[in-house]
Amino acid sequence: MKDLIVIGGGPGGYVAAIRASQLGMNVLLVEKDALGGTCLNRGCIPTKAYYQNASVLRTLGRLRDFNAAAENITFDMAGHDNRKNQNRIRSGVWNRGSC
Ligand SMILES: Cc1cc2nc3c(=O)[nH]c(=O)nc-3n(C[C@H](O)[C@H](O)[C@H](O)COP(=O)(O)OP(=O)(O)OC[C@H]3O[C@@H](n4cnc5c(N)ncnc54)[C@H](O)[C@@H]3O)c2cc1C
Repeated sequence: MKDLIVIGGGPGGYVAAIRASQLGMNVLLVEKDALGGTCLNRGCIPTKAYYQNASVLRTLGRLRDFNAAAENITFDMAGHDNRKNQNRIRSGVWNRGSC
């Protein structure tokens, strides 16, 4: 028997579910796609991963400004996407979810 059913596992839903669980409710969280919603899967976190990657590449392109030099700098887009998809925050939500 559940006290609360939360529909949607985005930041709105999982925070509500975790908090209700902390307050002693028996909670069911229903997510039709990926836990973490837009923010963790398509929005905030992936865009920050892209931004960080672009920032590193931009710095590498300006090494001379920092009196440094490097050769054979490469960029692996597939590797970057793998890193982006290793969304540790999402697994953190999952591990906290004892609803
Ligand atoms: C590109 C981008 C960048 C962003 N960057 C930031 C940022 O830097 N900082 C910030 O604060 N916000 C940012 N946002 C906004 C942030 O992603 C949203 O504010 C946040 O995800 C909203 O959370 P939510 O739980 O309300 O909805 P969502 O994250 O959309 O979650 C809703 C969940 O409900 C599920 N769902 C829907 N219908 C059903 C159903 N019938 N049954 C079961 N599950 C269902 C969906 O699959 C989804 O997982 C960004 C958004 C985008 C698109």
